[in-house]
Amino acid sequence: MRLDGARRDGRLAHGLLFSGPRGIGKRHLVELLARSLLCGTPTAEGLACGRCADCALIAAESHPDLLRVGPDPEAKSDEIPIAAIRALVERGALTPSRAAWKVTVVDPADHLNAAAANALLKTLEEPPGAALIVLVTEQPGRLPATIRSRCRQIRIPTPRPADALTWLTGRIPAKDAALRLCLAHGGPLRALEELDEDLLRQRRERFDGFLAIARGERDPVVEAAAWNGLGARLCLDWLAGWMVDLVRLAASEHPIHLDNPDLRDALSGLARRLEPASAHRLLQRVLRARALVETRANPQLLLESLSIEWLRVGAGQAPGRS
Ligand SMILES: [Zn+2]
Repeated sequence: MRLDGARRDGRLAHGLLFSGPRGIGKRHLVELLARSLLCGTPTAEGLACGRCADCALIAAESHPDLLRVGPDPEAKSDEIPIAAIRALVERGALTPSRAAWKVTVVDPADHLNAAAANALLKTLEEPPGAALIVLVTEQPGRLPATIRSRCRQIRIPTPRPADALTWLTGRIPAKDAALRLCLAHGGPLRALEELDEDLLRQRRERFDGFLAIARGERDPVVEAAAWNGLGARLCLDWLAGWMVDLVRLAASEHPIHLDNPDLRDALSGLARRLEPASAHRLLQRVLRARALVETRANPQLLLESLSIEWLRVGAGQAPGRS
């Protein structure tokens, strides 16, 4: 790990920004780094020993020099408020009490609200000597440019598909591994942790609902409520994947890649009926909605407008005017 060299030479920046797609191991890496910095007797490879008092405190989630800042799970908003950052800066909270470093992990950093980001910026500009602030995000572009420029940026790439698949087949049945990796957009940890049996069943049910709307057998508003109940972000992700595949299948009978290889037959049947321009337009709307959904307190209306549009598009009708 290059960071390890930087740390040993005393060149570690005070602000680190870890970014990359979901489910590829960013947080695991941040955790390894934090542990190795706080461990009293790190191994020759620079990793935490797992046996000293500091390692024990970390394992018990009570190490005084490891702080975690995130949205308040009790609060209605999923923003990180300014109070969370103020608490860091005041009372010398960034001075280590027993280890060589004080490590603060801000995750997901793109949830910092504007005031909190500003307060953090001041800290990043004049950090106390032994403070390390680690920001973790899937969407670095949503952080203010001023914050990004004060941090050393570490982009964690999606692993090569063959490597990810090898890793994954060591942990789940081989017959599921390729599909789950595909649905996780190549993120092996996401494939392992998020795409369990239950979620795959729910995806199948929502896909059945999607097909039923196109046949005129399901009320799109009812289906949109089911999407909302399951989580708008997740359902928009699925919807985007189905629409992308439909557009691909409308353009070529044998596209090289599908996001949903297991649904090829049903999607091919649908793609033959669709009016390509309408399908493409709906796909654009779904992608815009997916970008917007994070900022919506109640995305129900957004989802309904898409499911109603799909009723028209799925029935093979020409573009509407909405
Ligand atoms: Zn240790």
